[in-house]
Amino acid sequence: MQKNYKAKYVIQNSETILENFFIEITDNIITNLTNEPVNDSEVIDLGNVAIMPGFVNAHTHVGLVSVKGLGHSTASALYDVMWGIEPHLNEDDVIKLSKLGILDCLSSGTTSINDHYFFSEGVATAAIEMGIRGFIGHTVMTEYGPWLGDEQISMAESFIKNFIHEPLIHPTLAPHATDTTNPKILMYLKDIAESNNLPIHIHLSQTKIEYDYTKKNFGLSPIKHAKKIGFLDKNVIAAHCNVVEDGDIDILVQSGAYPIFCPSTHALGGKLMDTNKIINLDGVWGIGTDCSGGNDDYDMIEESRIALYINNSKNLDTKMSPKQIFDISTNQNFQKLNLNSDMSPMEVGSYADFISIDLSNEKMQPLHDLVNNVVLSASAREVNDVIIDGKEIIRDKEFLNADKYKIINEANEVLDRLLIKSNFRERIKDGEFS
Ligand SMILES: [Zn+2]
Repeated sequence: MQKNYKAKYVIQNSETILENFFIEITDNIITNLTNEPVNDSEVIDLGNVAIMPGFVNAHTHVGLVSVKGLGHSTASALYDVMWGIEPHLNEDDVIKLSKLGILDCLSSGTTSINDHYFFSEGVATAAIEMGIRGFIGHTVMTEYGPWLGDEQISMAESFIKNFIHEPLIHPTLAPHATDTTNPKILMYLKDIAESNNLPIHIHLSQTKIEYDYTKKNFGLSPIKHAKKIGFLDKNVIAAHCNVVEDGDIDILVQSGAYPIFCPSTHALGGKLMDTNKIINLDGVWGIGTDCSGGNDDYDMIEESRIALYINNSKNLDTKMSPKQIFDISTNQNFQKLNLNSDMSPMEVGSYADFISIDLSNEKMQPLHDLVNNVVLSASAREVNDVIIDGKEIIRDKEFLNADKYKIINEANEVLDRLLIKSNFRERIKDGEFS
């Protein structure tokens, strides 16, 4: 079915803004950008809005909404907080928790997530039901973590088989990190990724514990270890890369892997990825929110702005403009997740994934520079419409097919059980995480 969405502006990318334009979509694909729609085709006027490509969140764990607000005490967010709750999860819990995380993604204008979690079939089920595009991988660990063993590798493989033909789901391989996944399994998963032409999504050099572990066991930093075993290449999405030694960032950039800056998580944890150095070496980096253990929300508008602040705060000649940040959070993240595709999100032939920003709100006025206003002033409140794979998910700030309060209640019911089982209810009451 063919239809045209009309808007005051269509932001194709930071440099191309079309005034009083129509986006023609046929089923789930953009088939034309025009100032005059074909006669008789349906026109939906979105009003005083700017249509733009949806945000693409390059590193999430939407199901980890479970630990919101608990990752900021002296307890380690990963080793104490997340791994304290996660052994008690089941697939149904992950579906219900992920739906709450996805609500936050959608209402703040994200149309694609790159998610890494246990019970990946549950995450994918939630993504399909909510209508968000999901690059999703099943977390595989061989040491320490809450879910280990051959069964997890089988689940990673069966997830690919079961979901690869789902239009909204793009399976990835997702080893957890270089300390928690042994080299043999890292390379086993890499082989599967190569033979199926899929990306690999990993946490790389994210904690001092990981760094000390690979130094002790392999005599190398996590990034040098990953390089030595032949793991790093341009199809690797590497979250964090923030605990590094001399030479690590150079190796990372040379490998073509895509390092993901999670600015809120990094700033709150006191360890930043060195975005300026990556730029100096002619490399590129992406932006993701990470999870509630580190950041507490999934808002890519906020995250993009913080990425700009932190990168520019060092007053180096590697400062970026709001427009460059806009292109990372939309176009570049999308292309990297699609194995370095050169297709941009708002081009003819691409998925009909886009959002609209309400221009009548005070945060968007006056309107001297549309893209700068989106990056520097807009909030989730200005996200008016969300269309993914040709389907309307949010219209006029209302979810069309999701009962927001039912999703919130069901997630809280799951948490009531999880917090008791994990003894977290008592620990929260005792102030252990405050
Ligand atoms: Zn993470």
